[in-house]
Amino acid sequence: MKKFVLIFNVVILSFFFVSWGTFGHEHINRSAVFALPAPLQTFFYNHIDFITQESTVPDLRKYTLNDKAENPRHFIDLENFGSLDSIPKTMDELKKKYDDKFLSQNGILFWYVQDVMDKLTKAFKEKKKTEILFLAADLGHYIGDAHMPLHTSANYDGQQTNQKGIHALWESRLPEMFGKTYNYNTLEARYVDNVQSEIWKIILNSHRLKDTLLLTDRDLKKKFAEDKMYKTDASGKVAKNKYGQTIFSEEYAAALHVSLKGMVEEQMRASVKACSDFWFTAWVNAGKPDLSALDPAALTKRNTKQFKQEYKLWKQGKLFGVESEKEF
Ligand SMILES: [Zn+2]
Repeated sequence: MKKFVLIFNVVILSFFFVSWGTFGHEHINRSAVFALPAPLQTFFYNHIDFITQESTVPDLRKYTLNDKAENPRHFIDLENFGSLDSIPKTMDELKKKYDDKFLSQNGILFWYVQDVMDKLTKAFKEKKKTEILFLAADLGHYIGDAHMPLHTSANYDGQQTNQKGIHALWESRLPEMFGKTYNYNTLEARYVDNVQSEIWKIILNSHRLKDTLLLTDRDLKKKFAEDKMYKTDASGKVAKNKYGQTIFSEEYAAALHVSLKGMVEEQMRASVKACSDFWFTAWVNAGKPDLSALDPAALTKRNTKQFKQEYKLWKQGKLFGVESEKEF
């Protein structure tokens, strides 16, 4: 029975990691639209609310629909793949080297991003509007996940180092508390010559940040008394959110945010930039198709004025009209 409870807990734990949280994913996808060059931007702006909202659908497939194939697409436990120099580069090579069980436990994020990129490029080539929008929004989600340090490690919730709760604190609580002050303005999208090496670079960088993140949290915890570290409920027990995740005290969350020296904002901004780079690259690789006929001219015209206002705001680092559902 004890064993069963333990297994059950592990399942529940991994069940509720939503990767960047709703706040993060929505802000990343929405900002990326403004970093696109025209004319691709015009098409994406016509559907910016869909792109924003759909950013969390990969997580809904994982939790709400309980789609078993979805889970490994969001992470890669790099430590378990052995020497990183010989890591398979393509999905075909990967499937030859590892079985499904290994991959569902250790993740396929690196290869899945490439897969969605290929599908998005094809959708652009064929000018399939719904596929373009759906795949672009999905891609934004996985690129965001690749920037989350703990999505690249087997120690994904600090569970191996007695730092449980750090995952949701970093990716959901901190953005919810401080994300409104972040600067979402980035450089304009650029063409990515080698998608595979670019996504690999992103993942390796996140993996390095994982160490900084865990060390910072460990050092800070030494300075906090247990009763100052967590929020407690009326009965004095550590409070949990609706997903059963530990709620750290505002003081601890704020101190961690300062100690991380802008890491969360930096990773969010890097996600925005990479997302727009990848969308733009898929479109260029598809031969820069003219998408103007996919929407009624009247819709584009109506949106022009609104776009100018929103773009101006984004230039100042702010986003218009995003009120993300709270997790904490
Ligand atoms: Zn995810």
